[in-house]
Amino acid sequence: MLYASTRGGAKPQPFTDILLEGLAPDGGLFLPQEFPRLGAAGLAAMRGMSYAQLAFAILSKFADDVPPGDLKRLVDATYTKEIFGSEDITPLKKLEQGLYLLGLANGPSLAFKDIALQLLGNLFEYALEKHARRLNVVGATSGDTGSSAEYALRGKKNVQVFMLSPYGRMSAFQAAQMYSLQDANIFNIAVRGVFDDCQDIVKAISGDFAFKARHRIGAVNSINWARVAAQVVYYFTGYFAVTKSNGDPVSFAVPSGNFGNIYAGHVARSMGLPVRKLIVATNENDVLDEFFRTGRYRVRGAAEVKATSSPSMDISKSSNFERYAYDLVGRDPKILKALWTLLEREGAFDLAGTEYFRGVAGTGFVSGSSTHADRLTTIRRVWKDYGVMIDPHTADGIKVGLEHREQGVPLVCMETAQPAKFAETIREALGRDPARPAGFEDLEKLPQRVEVMGADAATIKRHIERHAA
Ligand SMILES: *Cc1c(COP(=O)(O)O)cnc(C)c1O
Repeated sequence: MLYASTRGGAKPQPFTDILLEGLAPDGGLFLPQEFPRLGAAGLAAMRGMSYAQLAFAILSKFADDVPPGDLKRLVDATYTKEIFGSEDITPLKKLEQGLYLLGLANGPSLAFKDIALQLLGNLFEYALEKHARRLNVVGATSGDTGSSAEYALRGKKNVQVFMLSPYGRMSAFQAAQMYSLQDANIFNIAVRGVFDDCQDIVKAISGDFAFKARHRIGAVNSINWARVAAQVVYYFTGYFAVTKSNGDPVSFAVPSGNFGNIYAGHVARSMGLPVRKLIVATNENDVLDEFFRTGRYRVRGAAEVKATSSPSMDISKSSNFERYAYDLVGRDPKILKALWTLLEREGAFDLAGTEYFRGVAGTGFVSGSSTHADRLTTIRRVWKDYGVMIDPHTADGIKVGLEHREQGVPLVCMETAQPAKFAETIREALGRDPARPAGFEDLEKLPQRVEVMGADAATIKRHIERHAA
């Protein structure tokens, strides 16, 4: 299988060559030239597999240049009860007849990003060792992504992690999750500034091509293809868990920001999984909902992005959306490139009234948005009716999912974080604290390892230079 850029300007490459890359050299995103298709026999063989078996069956189609024995070893080392808390990896909870919660947030950082990043950490270590390379991952985080990436790469050989976070602006729990890591290859940098300052510094570093090449700077952001591929797996486990036969339709409701999670659902559907609806839920930052309702895709300016109580969905643009748009325009890189040129120039493009936008219906996508008040109501309702405590992101997904629920079609809502990470909103909704999962009871009391630095790219570059792998 070869991977081509959505913008058509990069030589098609095998999986291992795109694994450590972010953007394609032409600014586009890598995608397989075609999606593998599973026939009835393929699906039948998958029902009944364990999570790790299923992950191997699916990932070996995408990573077909990794020797199968090696891939199997990496997958088996990733999807374990020790790391994800249960044999199921993504346990299913029935809320009522036809309504389910798929638990994606039982990994080390208590957010769904662990499912892909834990595998990515193992794949990175494997690939770096094999090609005798080293890598310095530099990233900015306002919470979830940073801790997932650090838990995935801690203690790995040939890779150092430099994670910038806004000093004093994360919850005590989120800060402690990252800063309490004592591994020698993890460098927490608390920047005196806001998240945008952190992101600007990372942009300045990756825009300095000489520095980037000299220090082999890389990223683990949500456009990485391997992350998407790893997320395809739990659409299959969720599907098999709620159906008896492989023709039954199932809909999924997904709290969305950068469109990585739900895009993996689109890949699963394209492979032949009988997915009926893919329900995109946004918060007040409704870039995606606007597109699916109207056909207009308009990115937001930094000042327009609202800080909400589902902060991991506070986005100005949706980075994986380009992959979906590529499919909508019939995988024609020229048309895709024209749209993204328009987007860069005008900040928006509009597909309303075009055959491309009419094509959305055939992909099963529908959408809706959710506000702070909706989150509180949904958290209360799910607690009262089912005795289940959910986090604010999951609440956005359930709220919008229920608006699109259909009689006779099971609705699987993705649980993307544990409520323990968002105690403040839980207190506001329920008047009580969320329970802490085992092992996290005294998190904030652990010794912390972090350097506080000014919002200055030059100082931070010197710091990276001194500690680079
Ligand atoms: C990252 C994240 C999301 C959004 O996922 P995307 O793949 O960016 O759409 C939703 N909920 C939580 C808790 C997250 O951490």
